[in-house]
Order: sequence, then structure tokens, then C-alpha cells
Amino acid sequence: MIARVRRVGIVGGGQLGRMLALAGHELGIECTTLDPSADSPAAAVAPAVTGSFDDLDGLAELAAGRDVVTYEFENVPVAAARSVEPMCPVLPPPAALEAAQDRLAEKRLFTAVGLAVPAYAAIDSLTSLEDAVERLGTPAVLKSRRLGYDGKGQAVIHDPLLAEDAWRSVGEVPCLLEAFVAFDRELSIVAVRGRDGVTGSYPLVENHHREGILRLTRAPAPGLEPEIQRAAETHADAIMTELGYVGVLAIELFQVGESLLGNEMAPRVHNSGHWTIEGAETSQFENHLRAICGLPLGATDAVGLSAMVNLIGAMPDPEAVLAVAGAHLHDYGKEPRPGRKLGHVTVRADDEPSLEHRLHRVLDSIDHAIDVP
Ligand code: AMP
Repeated sequence: MIARVRRVGIVGGGQLGRMLALAGHELGIECTTLDPSADSPAAAVAPAVTGSFDDLDGLAELAAGRDVVTYEFENVPVAAARSVEPMCPVLPPPAALEAAQDRLAEKRLFTAVGLAVPAYAAIDSLTSLEDAVERLGTPAVLKSRRLGYDGKGQAVIHDPLLAEDAWRSVGEVPCLLEAFVAFDRELSIVAVRGRDGVTGSYPLVENHHREGILRLTRAPAPGLEPEIQRAAETHADAIMTELGYVGVLAIELFQVGESLLGNEMAPRVHNSGHWTIEGAETSQFENHLRAICGLPLGATDAVGLSAMVNLIGAMPDPEAVLAVAGAHLHDYGKEPRPGRKLGHVTVRADDEPSLEHRLHRVLDSIDHAIDVP
């Protein structure tokens, strides 16, 4: 009889954990999550252990009886992830967490596999920042090396005289200073690698952020050039091979003309891949589980065109959203709070004019305005 891997522990019980658990349910894969909050979004749909991400007892409880442990959150302490390994495989490997948690390590990894990055300098003092501002010029973006996401721990320096303010605002911690890139657009690629080394990539998508938070994803990216897709896939494959990666990996990119620059990566399922639930042959959540469970990967082709809108701070009237043809509403069951991702809507269509029409109807039904270019 063939042994089935079907008990998965997920560190983190947010919406990503919830959508993983839902995808697992359909495949007969039982997911259990670990989260500090007893009423996390995932706890509403799957068994949950309550404990912090570095709580070794909680992690041991999560790992007990599981076939594999994964995570939905890239700031899981690496030591905590490694503490699980003697009990149960951890996938993606903790080396991927290590690379993703430090912007300098990430930039070096991208460079090592031939993915160009914005000009940057490592900063560990105000003096080194002032020197770097002089070399890279302004505007430039100061980013803390660790624990930054959704634009947090960042400051744009428009004037060299304001370097000190920026240094203080990010907390005087080790940083990177990056040249400000006048990109044409922001793209991301969601890729997946199985235990057997087989890889797949979803089409590149176009992302629009405001206040550092993803607002809108168009999938596939409009006017996507095949060479750019091929280049992004090659980079993703090289990064995954380098890390001995298993699971879904997302890489955020800047497109400048015909070139791509690597911004950052997330060793997990990603917000810019939510459209795959309805808009691709196999969702990123299912493919992540297939990968870590050693199952064959599913096709990553898009089914028609999709747009995904994040619902931030407030939920819309479901009736208004659901009245739009091709719209799918996802409610994460979270308490509304300003700036909080509460859900998303994916709208699908077979051609661009229909997609635009439906997307604008969805946006009209959401009361917080979003600028759609
Ligand atoms: P990050 O946390 O690195 O993803 O940055 C958040 C957002 O800030 C990105 O999605 C971009 O919109 C913007 N951004 C970050 N780095 C740069 C850069 N070097 N040049 C221009 N915009 C940037």
C-alpha cells in the first residue's frame, strides 16, 4: 500500500493558513495550525494549537503526529523552525526562511542566480547611511533588513539632509538603502517546486500597492511578453534549486523596460496568488500542499483573465459584490480594523473589456476607494 502524506502542520493561522486548510480539506489533507490567537481565521475551519511562533511546546504539539510542517508567515524564527526538524520535516526548508528574513541575504541570493536588483548599500550606522545617500543619490528607500513587510520599517529619503530622520524612523537598526526605481510596473511570480524537484510557475501578475499594501492584482499581467515570463521563471527555478526548495515561493519584481529587478521574496503562498483559486487550473494553496506532501503538482495555467482586489479595513455589502458576474468573495472572518486585510474579491472574465467592466463594478461596490490605473 502506498503511504499517504496527509497530516500537515501550519505555523500561522491567518488567512493564508485558512485558505491552505480549505484546499487541504478537499484533497483529504488534514491541516492543523499554530497561532497565538485562539480565534485565528484558520481556527474557524481547521483544528488549531494556540501558542506563539517561538513557543517550543506549541511547535512540538503542532509537529506531533504530522507528516510535514509548513508555514504561512515568513517571520517564523529560524531557530523555532529548525527545532521542529528532528520531529518532522519542515518545508519549505528553514534555509528559505533565513534568506527571506534578511533583505541583504535575499539581495545576495538574487544576485547569485543572475536576477538583477536595485543598486543598494548595507547600512549599520548613520554615517554609513549618509555615505550611501551620497553614492546612490535621492530619492532612495531605507528598509530595515529584518521584520519588514507591507511597507513597514521603510522610509523614502528625498533629501540627503533628511537621512537622519529616516534612520531614526526605522529604529536605527541594520538596514539596506536602495536606489529608488522608476519602474514601469510591479510584477510578481508565484512558483512551486515539488519534493522530486519538478517546478511550475504561474503567469506573472501585475500588482498595485498603496501605502505599502497590495490593493489590486491583474492576472496574467496585461500585455505580458513571453520573454519576460521566461526570464522570471528561470530566476524562480534557480532560486528554488539553490535553496533545495519545496512548496510555493513568491518573488516580487520591478519591470523596467524589458528588464526585471528582484525586490523581495516570500517563502510561502502569497497575496498576489489569491486569484489562482478561481483563475488558475490549480490554486497556489493546493499546489503548495501537493508539493510539500510529495504529490504531483497541478497545472499552473490561467483560466481566462482575473483581477483580485483586497478588502482592507472594511467589508463590502456581499450582495453588491456577488451581483457582479464572475465575482468571487472571500471573507477571512476577521474583526474589521483600519489597514487590516479582511478578505478579497477575485473577478474573472474571458476577455479584457469584460474583465474591466466587471472589475469596475466590483470596485464600485467597495466603499473604500482604490485607484485603478
Ligand atoms: P517592499 O516591502 O520591499 O515590498 O516595498 C513595498 C513597496 O514599496 C513596493 O511594493 C514598491 O511599491 C515600493 N518600493 C520598494 N522598494 C522600492 C524601490 N527601490 N524603488 C521604488 N519603489 C520601491
